[in-house]
Formats: sequence, C-alpha cells, structure tokens
Amino acid sequence: MGKKVKCLVCGAVFEEGVDVCPVCGVGPENFEPVDTVDSDFAKDTDEKFLIIGGGPAGRSAAAAIRERNKEAVITIITMEDELPYNRPMLTKALLADHSDNALAIEAADWYEKNRIFVMKGTKALSIDTTAKEVKVELSDGSMGLTVYDKLVYAPGAFCFVAPIKGAELEHVMTVRNISDTVRIREIVKERGVRNVVCIGGGVMGLEGASTMNDEDFNVTVLETSGALLHRQLDDRASSMLRKIAESKGVNIITEAKIKEITGDAVVLEDGRACPAELVLMSTGMRPYIQLAEDAGIEVDRWVVVDEHMRTSAGSVYAAGDCAVFNGQPQAFWAQAEATGYVAGANAAGDDLVYEPIGSALVMHAFGTAVFALGTNGKDPDRTFRCEYELDEAAGTYSARYYDESDPDILVGAILVGDLSAMPELMTQIPV
Ligand SMILES: Cc1cc2nc3c(=O)[nH]c(=O)nc-3n(C[C@H](O)[C@H](O)[C@H](O)COP(=O)(O)OP(=O)(O)OC[C@H]3O[C@@H](n4cnc5c(N)ncnc54)[C@H](O)[C@@H]3O)c2cc1C
Repeated sequence: MGKKVKCLVCGAVFEEGVDVCPVCGVGPENFEPVDTVDSDFAKDTDEKFLIIGGGPAGRSAAAAIRERNKEAVITIITMEDELPYNRPMLTKALLADHSDNALAIEAADWYEKNRIFVMKGTKALSIDTTAKEVKVELSDGSMGLTVYDKLVYAPGAFCFVAPIKGAELEHVMTVRNISDTVRIREIVKERGVRNVVCIGGGVMGLEGASTMNDEDFNVTVLETSGALLHRQLDDRASSMLRKIAESKGVNIITEAKIKEITGDAVVLEDGRACPAELVLMSTGMRPYIQLAEDAGIEVDRWVVVDEHMRTSAGSVYAAGDCAVFNGQPQAFWAQAEATGYVAGANAAGDDLVYEPIGSALVMHAFGTAVFALGTNGKDPDRTFRCEYELDEAAGTYSARYYDESDPDILVGAILVGDLSAMPELMTQIPV
C-alpha cells in the first residue's frame, strides 16, 4: 500500500500522489503526510461483524475491525452496485462516466486482501437487535437473513425532494449516487437538454450548476432565500459569489417562489418561466434513521451515539451521515470516515473516543473558490466584530469574525477567491 496524506482542509485521508483532494478539491499545498500506525489492540475472534452501508463510514469501520481482528467475518451490505466511492466528486464531475470504479476509495483487491465481503445491490430491510439478525433483500430480489455479533449502522442519508408540483417528473433529478449521474447523462441525451434549472443555492446545487455551466448548458439557479450559501456566508461574500456566477453566464434568482415544474420549465409564482429540460434538485439531505428507529434504537432526527459511537442498543454502533453526537450531526466526509473508524474499532473491542472534527465549507465553482468556517456573523443572539478586506476587481474577499464578548478569539472566517489563509484559519477556529 502507498503512503497516505491527509487533507488539512476537509480531513480526508488518501493515497499520496494525487493533484487535488478527491473530497474537497484543494491542491497538494494543503496535504500533509500521515503516519498510519497499526493499532496496539488485537483480539482475534470468530465473531461476525455486519456493516449496513457501503460509504466512507462503513468502509472505515471495516478497516478498523480488520486491523484489530484478523479472523472475524466482516460483511458490508450496500444498496448500491459499487464499492464505497468518493461521493463528493459526483456534483464536481456530474457528466463524467464513473462506471469504471475511478471514484472508488479502495480498489477491489483491498477488500479481497482484507477479506471484507461487500454485498452489493443488497438492501437491509429490518434489524432485530434481540436475535441479532438483519433481514435483507438481495440483488436478485430474493429475501435473506444475515446474523451478526456486532452491527455498525452506517446507511448515510438521502436527498430530500421539496414538495413542489411536478417534482415527480422524470427529468427532475437529485444527486446522491453514481446511478443518479448515469440517469442524468441519459436524460441529457434523450431530451436534448440545453437548459438546466438547479433548485437550491447551497453547496451541492451550486457545484452542480457550475459543472453544467462549464459544459455550456444554459443554467438557472433558483434559491428560496435572499442569498447564495446564506447559512455559511455573510452578505458581502454571497453577493460577490453571485456576481462571479453571473459573470460566467449563470442566471440566479433569489427569493424564488416556485409554483410548479412542467415538462419544459420551472414556473415561478410571479409568472416567470425558466426553461428546463433537466431540473437538478438540491434541497437538503435526510439521514436514514427508519431501520434504527423501527429496531427501537434511540433517534433524535439522527441516530444518537455516544463518544464511542455506541447506540442505545447493545452491540450496535452507528456512524456517518446518519449519526448525531453531542447534538452535532456528522454529515461531512471526514466526519464519516472518523466516526466509522471509531465505531469499527470499538465494535472490535477497542476503546477509542471520537475527537470531534470541524465542518468547513470548501467549494470550487464558477472559476472561484469559497471557504467558510464557524460563524458568518448572522446569529441574532450574539454581537460580532468583523474585520474584512474586499477587492471586487480581483474577486477576493476575506472576513474574520470575533465575538464581542471575547474579542481576541476568532469564531468564524470566510474567504472568496484566495484561499491561501485557509490552513492557518483551520487551526485558529475552535471546532
Ligand atoms: C453530491 C455530494 C457532494 C458532497 N460533497 C462533499 C464535500 O465536498 N465535502 C464533504 O465533506 N462532504 C461532502 N458530501 C457529503 C459526504 O459525501 C457524506 O458526508 C458521506 O458520504 C457520508 O458517508 P456515509 O458513509 O455516512 O454515507 P454514504 O456515503 O451515504 O454511504 C451510505 C451507503 O449506504 C447505502 N444504504 C443506505 N441504506 C441502506 C440499506 N437499507 N441497506 C443497504 N445499504 C444502504 C447507501 O445507498 C450508501 O451507498 C457530499 C455529498 C454528496 C451527495
């Protein structure tokens, strides 16, 4: 196995030698070598470890178990037909052909070598925590039961589809899986797509909009709030990003009130019709909690875990997008990898404690780059002092937010255009 590096921005760990981080897209100046130290803990048993979910959390859990237990049976159940892959690349390379496993986190021989059995195209239907059984639907449609001694619940999240009239039409797509991008490519061909409407001006909506704009489609972004990335950016940064996107030819409508999606347009309540042979809906994610909830495991919008990633049910751990720790959802890539690792290690008998990881926004779109971490100064219950530099001509913006009650402590930062200060800011802003 080659040496590994860690991206200082998003925390992802991957093989050295790549030009950009496969998760957040920053360059090698933000990578640092990591020592992959083998765990001291070892406990070989003939236990059966079952992992629901073949994403980064599930893969990391499997790796952590195998590092500690050379004999156990490790099985990952995943609904998708692929090995765990770099999901964040989907919106960054929306029209690329991902069928050749190019996005895979690890190649097939890694699973063979580590004797990690991946049941692709297999859906977990229910969990019986007393009998320690999971009912599954196999890829051929048949039903089966898999037993476990320890279970790691890591099914991730799914796209929320906003309840808009026409959202069920075939050319309205969300982007979560490789299969979604396959279908989008088909729609582009079948419908001779020229006009794309992206509903949602958050990170994924804007990444998708930028990718489609680069491919010369006519792109409109519809955002219901008054600004792009309004949860992460302040008004100056949102406005600068908007101007940059518009200068690339993207049509942006904020405070958009959508009336309906028709076969060839998205119609607003004020009567405007935005032509669209393809609609990309990016209106948020929802964690998969149903199986856990039905099994009697404690949920609070997400599956509740402690610092060991234990759920309320014995022998059941949870990690990744489905999990919440200390009231904080773990919905970023590096968090999924880290919580998955802790869950797997502890399922194997180790005693790891999860060290929370911050969730920085890093976006490359419309020929610029955006970074945000911590507050954007909009919290109505706090007063902030903001130091900023804005250079409209150069397309750069830098803001640092300090809490008035403790003016020396940096509590938020935003960068647009020039992200060179990002590594330093990552170390200064508390998680
Ligand atoms: C388009 C896109 C862009 C993103 N960009 C970024 C980014 O730039 N930076 C960042 O940090 N994060 C990003 N994320 C978020 C990141 O990808 C997630 O945080 C991460 O993938 C979560 O990992 P996970 O293992 O918890 O779940 P997932 O990656 O969702 O994997 C869970 C797997 O379990 C499967 N599954 C679900 N239910 C079942 C079931 N019942 N039976 C069997 N299998 C099941 C799912 O189909 C899926 O394959 C992005 C996400 C998307 C969709």
